[in-house]
Amino acid sequence: MKRSSFERYKLKKTLEVLEKKKGYHTELVSLYIPPERQISDVTNYLKQEYGTASNIKSKSTRKNVMDAIQKILALLKNVPKPPPTGLAIFCGAIPTNGQGTERMELTTIVPLEPIKIYKYHCDNKFFLDPLKEMLVEKETYALIVIDRSEADFATLKGNHLEILKKITSGAPGKHSAGGQSQRRFERLIEQAGHEFFKRGGEYAKELFLEIPDLKGLLIGGPGPSKNKFAESNYLDYRLKNAILGIVDLSYTGSPGIDELIDKSRDILQNVRYSEEKSLVQKFLTMLVKDDSLVAYGEKEVRQALNQGAVGTLLLSEDLDILHVTISCPNCNYREETTIKKEQLPSLEQETQYRHCPKCDSSLLSIETLKPIIDELGELAEQTGADAEIISSETEEGQQLKQAFGGIAALLRYSLDH
Ligand SMILES: [Zn+2]
Repeated sequence: MKRSSFERYKLKKTLEVLEKKKGYHTELVSLYIPPERQISDVTNYLKQEYGTASNIKSKSTRKNVMDAIQKILALLKNVPKPPPTGLAIFCGAIPTNGQGTERMELTTIVPLEPIKIYKYHCDNKFFLDPLKEMLVEKETYALIVIDRSEADFATLKGNHLEILKKITSGAPGKHSAGGQSQRRFERLIEQAGHEFFKRGGEYAKELFLEIPDLKGLLIGGPGPSKNKFAESNYLDYRLKNAILGIVDLSYTGSPGIDELIDKSRDILQNVRYSEEKSLVQKFLTMLVKDDSLVAYGEKEVRQALNQGAVGTLLLSEDLDILHVTISCPNCNYREETTIKKEQLPSLEQETQYRHCPKCDSSLLSIETLKPIIDELGELAEQTGADAEIISSETEEGQQLKQAFGGIAALLRYSLDH
């Protein structure tokens, strides 16, 4: 399953907000419901917990836990069964300004990947580990550390390293055993090296070629063997094309693998950067070739999104623009506007003193406030477009931010017709 960078971004932001919330006592409830779990099982369990909670000594903790459980039960009444990836629920009394100011808050998350555990957890903070794990990159990298005497094969999937295989060359030592001529000895070494690399190439093919969405191959080792192995024809051409870097190391074996990962951080980071670069380049190329197939700037892109014309939406990670709805409760007058984050205090003040343009009441107020990344990203999801969050770490990312207001789109069809 391909996950867009926007989904990851959204989950990351939500988790950051939840992580900051702290209760006074063990009164914040986290609930993980895997997809196959019956909702009736969950509600029965919660009713039991509700009974147990009535024995909590502290009056305020007791009330808060019971209120939280009740709130979750009320929510589950409207959930006939868990979504395909399950459901995570976080509920508890969060202090807004010191003790006694707690407000009951409830957040639900339908995760990117199926929830594997069923868990009810009560603590002074929310339990977020299973969702945090989903943020870890899942792409797989193949690793080979090789020198003239041994080769180690491993994969790195997210933060999970797996050593798959170690082979040794059995090559004779550096110094010739007595009796053999130097030339004959060198020829033997060369022959053994060739056989060893050939075996290495076969193992690489067997271990790595079948890996779905393999992102690339990293090769390292002390000395020149790694280059010879990588650049000659020992590797299957598909693996050879997947080489992301050849790295000079001090160690072989599993310390060498660790060193290879360490020294390849930049290369791995660059893989995402190059994806971002090519996304923006695609937009720029199309802009020159046929600008009716692209849109940029908030107004134009929003329009294209509303028409369902966007194929890929590009959003700068640093966009600090808020989408604001101002409304009048007296006559249902509504207006939408976008502002920079730092303009919010002055907009709040201004709204307070403004009168409703329709009925002249002084009740005009800010109804909703949403970062534009979230707002447009969700609009993209609803219309089946891919939303991609582009960092400002690359030249292209900077260009998107500065020349196009950080908002651009590749369209499915021309809007001119
Ligand atoms: Zn009004």
